[in-house]
Amino acid sequence: AKVDNPYVGAGVYVNPEWSAKAAAEPGGSRVSNQPTGVWLDRIAAIQGAGGKMGLRAHLDRALQQAAGRAFVVQLVIYNLPGRDCSALASNGELGPTEIDRYKTQYIDPIAAILADSKYANLRIVTTVEIDSLPNLVTNVTPRPTVTPQCDVMKANGNYIKGVGYALNKLGAIGNVYNYVDAGHHGWIGWDDNFNASAQIFKQAATAEGSTVNNVHGFIVNTANYGATKENNFTINDNIAGKSVREAKWVDWNRYVDEQSFAQAFRQEAVKVGFPSGVGMLIDTSRNGWGGSARPSGPGAQTSVDTYVDGGRYDRRIHLGNWCNQSGAGLGERPKAAPAAGIDAYVWMKPPGESDGASREIPNDQGKGFDRMCDPTYTGNPRNNNNMSGALPNAPLSGDWFSAQFQELMKNAYPAL
Ligand code: BGC
Repeated sequence: AKVDNPYVGAGVYVNPEWSAKAAAEPGGSRVSNQPTGVWLDRIAAIQGAGGKMGLRAHLDRALQQAAGRAFVVQLVIYNLPGRDCSALASNGELGPTEIDRYKTQYIDPIAAILADSKYANLRIVTTVEIDSLPNLVTNVTPRPTVTPQCDVMKANGNYIKGVGYALNKLGAIGNVYNYVDAGHHGWIGWDDNFNASAQIFKQAATAEGSTVNNVHGFIVNTANYGATKENNFTINDNIAGKSVREAKWVDWNRYVDEQSFAQAFRQEAVKVGFPSGVGMLIDTSRNGWGGSARPSGPGAQTSVDTYVDGGRYDRRIHLGNWCNQSGAGLGERPKAAPAAGIDAYVWMKPPGESDGASREIPNDQGKGFDRMCDPTYTGNPRNNNNMSGALPNAPLSGDWFSAQFQELMKNAYPAL
């Protein structure tokens, strides 16, 4: 039987490939023993693409690391047809219509391996299809943030079918714990998106023969940069006669950080019909925002903007910026049950792996060039036409980005 929170009392798998890259960096051994997510980001990753370990190799190594203890392995299921419909940096190998290949060549082989009785004592956490379902809420007609590709994926239903199929197949395995991606506070935290997202997640969780019982919880902030807790202001503060919600940075959102959002979203999910025991994961891999620029207290109470901008840890130019953010640092180290409703802080995005190339780089993975990764880009409606805030000279998404890793360590909070 599945336990309520798979992280409690359990070790967590350290990916030896990520660990070696981290350890090879000056100062990297301070974090190279941390657990990170294993991204199955193409069909070939199941067997092992480009000389890398495949899924069985990871699970076999996990059994060794477990040495008989309760043990979590964290996988990212990330290969939907028409992947990354609102951006280009993580477009994938499957075209918008290739739902059958997704099922038979991607999900079925993964499920077959996970169901091997040899692995029955591992607690296998699967985080399911980052960014996909939230895109169907916010980046479709008639929203100003629409992209043609997200309209296509909404119309053809292949994100819904793909996620439903994955949840159903993987959830049927007795030791697999599915966590559906729920975006982050700076995306789903607005009133227009909050309940609508819960509804769409339910639609996906009940598609293709699945039921809500295949959902163990949700993950937020995956590969994003929102602070876990902003301690210098709350959504309920009023400054100079105005609510914090009116600050430019907050822009009428209901949440100012990931933990308050995650806890509220958990309740919303239960309200729309998910099991009452669902738990949340927060990706804290890159949301530390420490270093010398970290505010030491609240901002000046001259206006809501001076108050919020002077006090916020998250120093992005705009909340919609997502690619290789300048100034970011490693966040809270992975930790089980850190707060009510939160199953764990996790490092699902392996720190030091790029979010996308800052210029066009030819590749055979389907990845495009997204100008949100170009530091000279002046933006689009999804970041309200602000500068991208991205670091220069970044490699393809998923490739090792040494300069970013160094900055993440320098700005870690808690400090290393
Ligand atoms: C990339 C994947 C990569 C993952 C983890 C994503 O942005 O598209 O290829 O595995 O990040 O670094």
